Amino acid sequence: MVMDRLRHSIRHVQDFPKEGIGFKDITTLLKDPDCYKEAIDALMEPYLHSNVNKVVGIEARGFLLASAIAYHLHAGLVPVRKPGKLPSETIEASYELEYGTDTVAMHVDAIEKGDNVLMVDDLLATGGTMAASCRMVEEVGGNIIGIAFLVELDFLNGREKLKNYPLHILVHYQSELPEDV
Ligand code: AMP
Repeated sequence: MVMDRLRHSIRHVQDFPKEGIGFKDITTLLKDPDCYKEAIDALMEPYLHSNVNKVVGIEARGFLLASAIAYHLHAGLVPVRKPGKLPSETIEASYELEYGTDTVAMHVDAIEKGDNVLMVDDLLATGGTMAASCRMVEEVGGNIIGIAFLVELDFLNGREKLKNYPLHILVHYQSELPEDV
């Protein structure tokens, strides 16, 4: 029931940001007080009695979920950003896109050896962004407890890139058809 409500509160915008892309717009979920609360509660539920002490949020919509989760879990919050945005020394990781590569960055001192980390983003598509983010966290000694997403586009099979980690995902889309809402 709750998952159905969350699913129906997400807006499908066809051809954004370019033709052929079916964009899952979560702002319509976020602006609804009940949906936002239910989403945060459900996302953090498996970790309530875990030893997570850092929550990593991926730019930019990941921040909108990760910060609320970190606050409730009494964990620290760590942003993963596009290169050139973070002011101090960073570690970076690149990943393949259909055409070219993309890069994510994190402060080198954001995660310490032995930190128990929950990774959070809004949506799992091809999995490249999250897989690169996990590599950075592990490179500085973080122990990834789990990965939480609000949405998975199942048909892109991004979970293949994340198969070494426990995934917790609330809303699934089986096809990219606009009717699949
Ligand atoms: P990927 O690395 O392919 O898993 O892409 C994940 C990132 O791109 C997430 O941060 C999402 O916010 C964004 N993203 C990719 N595809 C979509 C989509 N169809 N709708 C909304 N956001 C998307």
